[in-house]
Amino acid sequence: MINRRKFISRTALAAMGILAIPAWLRAVKAASPVFPLRGNTPMVISTWNHGYEANEAAWKVLESGGSAVDAVEQGVRVPEADPDNLSVGLGGLPDRDGHVTLDASIMKGNGECGSVTFLEHIKHPISVARLVMDKTPHVILSGEGALQFALENGFGKENLLTEKAKKAWEEWLVKAEYEPVINIENHDTIGMLAIDKQHHIAGACTTSGVSFKMHGRVGDSPVIGAGLYADDEVGAATATGMGELVLKTLGSFLLVEFMRNGYSPQEACEEGIKRIVEKIPGYENFQIGYLAVNTSGETGAYAIHKGFNYALFRDGKFELIDSDYYLKS
Ligand code: ASP
Repeated sequence: MINRRKFISRTALAAMGILAIPAWLRAVKAASPVFPLRGNTPMVISTWNHGYEANEAAWKVLESGGSAVDAVEQGVRVPEADPDNLSVGLGGLPDRDGHVTLDASIMKGNGECGSVTFLEHIKHPISVARLVMDKTPHVILSGEGALQFALENGFGKENLLTEKAKKAWEEWLVKAEYEPVINIENHDTIGMLAIDKQHHIAGACTTSGVSFKMHGRVGDSPVIGAGLYADDEVGAATATGMGELVLKTLGSFLLVEFMRNGYSPQEACEEGIKRIVEKIPGYENFQIGYLAVNTSGETGAYAIHKGFNYALFRDGKFELIDSDYYLKS
């Protein structure tokens, strides 16, 4: 972990230009549309163990030379379609009024991005977010408007509330205590980051959000810069956990900017969690997990509590890795 003094001195060095990119590299960079430092890619990384099947689907796209943005879209569609996954797409836990409302975002390293918030009845919000990016002059469509756009573009309207999710909601209704808590070990949002053979980076993030939330609540996942950010020149980051903490610190953008200033992905994730610790009273009651990757394919992860893990796919090889975390005692 980087301590504060090291952070301050790095910031000072960066301000003096000492950590800046050397002249020779700037010249190469200027001649190339993407940053030239390339490492162990293609690769794909995603939050939690439901990332396995998702990464496998993404890897198929990357391996055949497909783009990172196609890979992440195809990848996260897997948990979105899984009725047993209680936190994403079909089968996601509803809000406190019994509605399944979905948030999703997608971003390419060239800055193009799209998202949907508070979307009901559509199993694949990520593909609607993709269309917002590709086919509209906007970044975010929300609620009824997002649904209308999806239906106009051929998406089918479905009931996303499965029997399993309905039962969980009915059990919650017995006490109906409104305490939005993200279970520290529970498996939430999928955030996925990928780098393709052309060295472009992209990310996707999709969720049904905090279970039994207030109707209309939108989390970090569909907010570009909070739940997801990607920049071909630097890297990408994504978040899972109690979205309000990520929104208040604009977590994913913060991590990418840390990397832009010379931090490794691991250092960036640790500093992102540290920002939450310093700024948000009561942070210890919630879990946040950050994932980051730089353009060289180096990865990082860090969480507030024990229990966050992530799935990495590279060279056709899969690894499920436990993240390090802040609260050790
Ligand atoms: N970050 C998501 C949200 O706050 C939830 C999660 O990751 O489980 O909506």
